[in-house]
Amino acid sequence: MTVTTFSELELDESLLGALQEKGFTRPTAIQAAAIPPALEGRDVLGSAPTGTGKTAAFLLPALQHLLDFPRKKSGPPRILVLTPTRELAMQVADQARELAKNTHLDIATITGGVAFMNHAEVFSENQDVVVATTGRLLQYIKEENFDCRAVETLILDEADRMLDMGFAQDIETIAAETRWRKQTMLFSATLESEAVTEFAKRILNEPVEVEADPARRERKKILQWYYRADDIKHKTALLIHLLKQPEVTRSIVFVRKRDRVHELCGWLREAGINTSYLEGEMVQAKRNEAFKRLSEGRVNVLVATDIAARGIDIDNISHVFNFDMPRTADTYLHRIGRTGRAGKKGTALSLVEAHDHLLLGKIARYIDEPLKSRTIDELRPTTRAPSEKLNGKPSKKVLEKRKEKKASEETKPRVKQRHRDTKNIGKRRKPSSAVKTDNAE
Ligand code: ADP
Ligand code: MG
Repeated sequence: MTVTTFSELELDESLLGALQEKGFTRPTAIQAAAIPPALEGRDVLGSAPTGTGKTAAFLLPALQHLLDFPRKKSGPPRILVLTPTRELAMQVADQARELAKNTHLDIATITGGVAFMNHAEVFSENQDVVVATTGRLLQYIKEENFDCRAVETLILDEADRMLDMGFAQDIETIAAETRWRKQTMLFSATLESEAVTEFAKRILNEPVEVEADPARRERKKILQWYYRADDIKHKTALLIHLLKQPEVTRSIVFVRKRDRVHELCGWLREAGINTSYLEGEMVQAKRNEAFKRLSEGRVNVLVATDIAARGIDIDNISHVFNFDMPRTADTYLHRIGRTGRAGKKGTALSLVEAHDHLLLGKIARYIDEPLKSRTIDELRPTTRAPSEKLNGKPSKKVLEKRKEKKASEETKPRVKQRHRDTKNIGKRRKPSSAVKTDNAE
């Protein structure tokens, strides 16, 4: 039987009421697939594209469990959710609070960037659910400020991102510290990376694998275009023009480096466009403020680096701009996933310089559809477009040329590369996820 309503999921009235208030009328695919086995207490290995409702997919069964088995006296947290970033931790906690609003359950966060004093409160009070980032939580575990023994369910949200960010060891330590738990759930946007599946095998116990892959359908809701640009000045002019279009109501502009965030905000301000911004080095209070400014509509544009923007969920993002193209197709997908969430339409626009065209081709192959170009009359690029074919499938001519090139390269000795190869022998390194994404293309 396919689940089409939340009430079919046998959730508590208090949760159903909160869902209704949130305007969630029917479960998303991943929710319908993950909630029943999770309610049975099974371990869950879940994957579904960004923006398809994974948060409620793990929060609802976790909250239901707390309601089914109420604790007799106050004590340390019973549900522990780990997220890759502080922002995400706060968003997950917010959603948990909204879902649990008709219950007595308490939800807290433990993240970096918050003074210990503020967490002291968390420790002394009775908490049911704690949403945490790994670094600070581990510190508190080591200092014996955080008691893991009561944790019944451990949830890893955005596991792929956490591994990308190098938190594998941290998570394993926390998993060992919470060894009395009865259930573990791991959610990830994809299970394509072996790093994630291998990791899942170590952490999960006979998991039910649930996958909701409306990939194509989801992606279709995001219109994707690119504009060719001559240089950074041209890109800025294009961006300013596009940001001033009436349909561009709320956008995130992605750049690669922190310096660029500030530079670009300055240029936009000169053009009369106020922005807020997010970059990795900001103190927490400023980050929160940046989020709020956008989500409350005080500004319509957020300029951000990838790290800073990981996992954020701001409603009604009409446009995502790639001011700088991301280095990998995976990051591209992640960026554009900020728009077109939960069935809404979104638009992703990329500004592409000559040197980005190879990347564009990679992305097109990865998402399995060529990206189309657009131009703005008064802002046409002056440089010629590289072969359109580069952006999708290479033409016969290109393939032949490549072959020729390869052949000519093969006759040349490749001293440098061999040298590097020999140097690395015996240096067995765990493949990093960065290597993985490069190879995946
Ligand atoms: P993911 O973690 O898969 O990226 P989220 O859990 O952040 O996705 O959900 C994306 C958006 O969809 C959020 O704004 C959330 O409030 C909304 N959402 C989640 N579940 C539902 C639902 N059943 N009905 C309507 N909207 C939903
Ligand atoms: Mg999520």
